[in-house]
Amino acid sequence: MSIKTINGIYHGAPFNMVGNGFRVSNNFPHGNSFIREMSPFFLLDYNAPVDFSASEEPRGVGVHPHRGFETVTIVYAGELAHRDSSGSAGLLHPGDVQWMTAGSGVVHEEFHAPEFSKTGGTLHMIQLWVNLPKAHKMTTPKYQDIRDKDMPRIMADTGNGYTRIIAGEYKGAEGPAETFSPVHLYDVRLDKDASTSFSFPAEFNTAILVLSGKIKVSGEVEARATDFILFKHEGEEINIKAEDGSTLLLLSGEPLNEPVVSYGPFVMNTQEEIHQAFADFHSGKFGKL
Ligand code: MN
Repeated sequence: MSIKTINGIYHGAPFNMVGNGFRVSNNFPHGNSFIREMSPFFLLDYNAPVDFSASEEPRGVGVHPHRGFETVTIVYAGELAHRDSSGSAGLLHPGDVQWMTAGSGVVHEEFHAPEFSKTGGTLHMIQLWVNLPKAHKMTTPKYQDIRDKDMPRIMADTGNGYTRIIAGEYKGAEGPAETFSPVHLYDVRLDKDASTSFSFPAEFNTAILVLSGKIKVSGEVEARATDFILFKHEGEEINIKAEDGSTLLLLSGEPLNEPVVSYGPFVMNTQEEIHQAFADFHSGKFGKL
């Protein structure tokens, strides 16, 4: 086992609004190679803590479709409400994760929860898009509503912190999310001076988003809030030392190595499949809210 080499640290991703409720920055590096470097992950919208004023009308994004991938929503602060074409609806509280498989197609809306809207407050969340393998793109849509208590917590090597396993495996424990390809997704919380270590196959695409604090990675590189660290396909081990209380999202997955053609809310393998997605959406095949 050897230390995983860092490919680069990216920061300063610009903000954009998704509807009127989410102020996000897409932290994946851009350019032609990024789809290959991040696969099976496709997009990482990070809503760093933002204060929203009280509003009778919940902010968010109205009805829109998805096909061909999964959306993973992780709430750190604030409360979200969702509703979709399969009749499912629910609330997401801090610590909760919603893993939605859009598969063959869903139509949904994503808003701040009514109570949270009325009082206003800090929203802090992530939405990660995980691509589906070609063989599963048209799978039946489904939801995994994962509560904070459903996720195993593994203590940091030094005891003063923990890793919450959302998906995949860590030190013999397994996260609750079912995935269509090998994916490890962890929520890492470290107190100041905590150290902990991770290991992933060299060929997996692996990255860390620093949500808060300051860390040293494998004794060499410092990273702080909103930095995105991308690793190379060299080495397996990652050692983290927290120089401040820190929260990290750690993602590692086996690349799909399949063609990707995307347009807006659809992520498919060919241009024809994108045209078909539009046709199916407009003819009502995704269902209605
Ligand atoms: Mn959506």
